Amino acid sequence: MEETLRRQGPGTQTLTTRCCVVGGGPAGMMVGFLLARAGVDVVVLEKHGDFLRDFRGDTIHPSTLEFMHELGLLDQFLALPHQELRELTAQIGETRIKVVDFGHLPTVCKFIALMPQWDFLNFLAAQGQCYPNFKLLMRAEATDILREGERVTGVRVTTPEGPRDIEADLTIGADGRHSTVRARAGLTVKDLGAPMDVLWMRVSRRSDDQFETLGRIDVGHIFIMLNRGDYWQCAYVIRKGGADEVRQQGLPAFRASILKFAPLLRDRVEELRSWDDVKLLTVAVDRLAQWYCPGLLCIGDAAHAMSPIGGVGINLAVQDAVAAANLLYAPLRRGQPTLDELAAVQKRREFPMRFIQGLQLFVQNRIITRVLASTQSPKPPFAVMLLDWWPPLRRIPARILGLGVQREHVHTPDAGVQVSPS
Ligand SMILES: Cc1cc2nc3c(=O)[nH]c(=O)nc-3n(C[C@H](O)[C@H](O)[C@H](O)COP(=O)(O)OP(=O)(O)OC[C@H]3O[C@@H](n4cnc5c(N)ncnc54)[C@H](O)[C@@H]3O)c2cc1C
Repeated sequence: MEETLRRQGPGTQTLTTRCCVVGGGPAGMMVGFLLARAGVDVVVLEKHGDFLRDFRGDTIHPSTLEFMHELGLLDQFLALPHQELRELTAQIGETRIKVVDFGHLPTVCKFIALMPQWDFLNFLAAQGQCYPNFKLLMRAEATDILREGERVTGVRVTTPEGPRDIEADLTIGADGRHSTVRARAGLTVKDLGAPMDVLWMRVSRRSDDQFETLGRIDVGHIFIMLNRGDYWQCAYVIRKGGADEVRQQGLPAFRASILKFAPLLRDRVEELRSWDDVKLLTVAVDRLAQWYCPGLLCIGDAAHAMSPIGGVGINLAVQDAVAAANLLYAPLRRGQPTLDELAAVQKRREFPMRFIQGLQLFVQNRIITRVLASTQSPKPPFAVMLLDWWPPLRRIPARILGLGVQREHVHTPDAGVQVSPS
């Protein structure tokens, strides 16, 4: 282990490592695990004490499942409780249409696995911990970056044991949409706007409930129900900033509005007892002009906050992590990656990210904005009806949602626990 710990003045300890990853979300845990597996000393910082947060996206797409397969971990991973989503259905007005069919993807798993994100993250943490050069610090919040001249040399962290400085040859900002690291580094963010927020709640599910996962679009609203085994995870899309108005109308009115979309919840909607049972998720879509500066690289939502449309953010974040690990493990084994080596990560991932964000913005601005403002029941657009009439067309959205537009594969080696990093 190259990592060293020393005390620096009263109270502040300094930990030195090769790579410090800020944020233990999908991007951070995956890149931390892959780099440690490849023989690089890694410290991953997560500000929370566990991964048990509600309302994190729970969709593990075929691209991520394929990584598990490439890592030889798929059977172990799928032994965790999950549901498998092979098709997606939309109901627009009164018309119900199958829009996505994952059955023809060129992957081992032809489905989305719905799995609590904390299980996914715990799984990655456990895999990382098989390697002695992987260190995960929970309840460790990066509050600032450390610099020497232009170069980022690590982060300042608060922990229950007191403040720490983590010095690293590379800091990876994987701290999500409200990234402290990118803000402190002064990286330029382009805000692309989002017309909606999401109210997120659970209602119990019965084994005799008739339909599977469904997205429903009707007058002024969009409602999504994900089958999570013994409960429905429900998303109620509202216009941006509209949460107070919904709350002012009262819980009975809100429950009644849900029943218009999902009459089968009639005997269960009372489970929403107070507004505490209804979480507000604010949606942001943005991206950095440049994902890196000397000593620092941002990936995942820290580099490009994704809209929930298509539920692809986790998988893009994981693809970023795989690409970053592929491109940087060798430079990191030698020492500090150069600026060109960091730029190569953005170069590889920028097009697939822009493509998906472009689609999300199109749907946001052309469809969601209109639906949320509509006063009449919508009719399915011709292009959507084509998916119903000609099933092979459903493979196109399946490919984009399931795999993205540029596939990644795990190229990092397994240096094994015996190999000491160079
Ligand atoms: C309403 C909504 C619903 C969504 N639903 C889905 C979905 O179903 N499927 C999907 O694929 N995507 C979904 N997304 C998008 C998805 O949540 C993100 O794209 C994805 O989580 C990005 O992963 P990440 O690892 O980059 O960041 P995050 O998941 O945000 O993880 C960042 C981590 O960093 C930690 N952290 C933050 N700051 C610090 C700090 N200073 N120090 C230490 N730790 C820190 C956080 O606690 C967190 O664990 C949704 C987004 C929204 C807004």
